[in-house]
Amino acid sequence: MAKNRRMRAAGSFMGVFVAIALAQVQIPKIAPATHDVRPGPGVKVKRLSDYFSGIARTPGDTAVYIMEGAEPGGTVLVAGGTHANEIGGSMAAIVLVEKARVERGRLIVIPYANNSAITYQDPARPGGPRSFEVKTAGGERIFSIGARLTRPEHQGEADPPGTKAASHDSAMEISPRDLDRQYPGKADGNLTQRIAYAVVALLKKENVDLAFDLHEAPPGSRLAMMIVANPKNAELGAEAVLVLEAEGLAMKLEESSATFRGLSHREWGDATRAKAFLFETPNPASRRESPGDPVSDGVWPLAKRVGIHLKAIGAILGAYNEAAEDKGRIRIGNLPELEEITKAGLGAYLR
Ligand SMILES: [Zn+2]
Repeated sequence: MAKNRRMRAAGSFMGVFVAIALAQVQIPKIAPATHDVRPGPGVKVKRLSDYFSGIARTPGDTAVYIMEGAEPGGTVLVAGGTHANEIGGSMAAIVLVEKARVERGRLIVIPYANNSAITYQDPARPGGPRSFEVKTAGGERIFSIGARLTRPEHQGEADPPGTKAASHDSAMEISPRDLDRQYPGKADGNLTQRIAYAVVALLKKENVDLAFDLHEAPPGSRLAMMIVANPKNAELGAEAVLVLEAEGLAMKLEESSATFRGLSHREWGDATRAKAFLFETPNPASRRESPGDPVSDGVWPLAKRVGIHLKAIGAILGAYNEAAEDKGRIRIGNLPELEEITKAGLGAYLR
């Protein structure tokens, strides 16, 4: 009898313990942010939660656009908005969804990879703009500017005490809300880990050959105008850098660190068969001292940064196709030339 009571007591103690453990991650059921993206003809729209249901009906779910060429070939993933203040990447992704014509293979695009981070003001830049307008043939369109990290209320758990927000100036600081520090993710983790897990699930399910994560960094910083490559595809990056240089665009190349983990180029490439790359264009708004205009800067306007992302993708695709078997090649047409988009403006390449 006494033994039974003790066992019941122990059981209820365990029950309380399990409940506390489960209560640690509670991701709010909030509808994910929506955006003005106008897909071109034949573009299929899916959700990131189609690849991992653990982010369904959470602020981490986001639209995934799939474009398929008439000829079969390899598969490319382009992700923008991993850091939602780095608008050059998300806008390059949107130009692809709206204007690119995939002729061979498949192109999968996630314009807002961290769709929670787009929903709030960047604490690092309290007075900065939350949106910007682009004039297009279809009228004026408005796009959001968000923060670098997952919104704290969406994460499902508090940051551990002493956590410092990671930034490009202090890349070794790891925030649990930084999507580009949480790969390959965790199915039962916080929201950021679950988003990361979903992206890796997509890479595997769609058998992605080439994957690009589009970022921005402060002008003049070590990372600005950088291509970071997983070591297994660094040679491909080097070939592309030579082509870009011959065409007048100087980009640096760096290999993923062996010890600094959690970054897309490192973990996508290690966890899947994809050749993984990350690009950094210079965004004047990310300067710590005297941040500049994220859209209309005289030296680094948004249209030019979008053009650089697309040109770098084109150069790596070119190098990849040269080495690929015929059946694995990928051809994407109707991409703007860097000079054209810089001159004509972003709106000329949106619907
Ligand atoms: Zn970034």
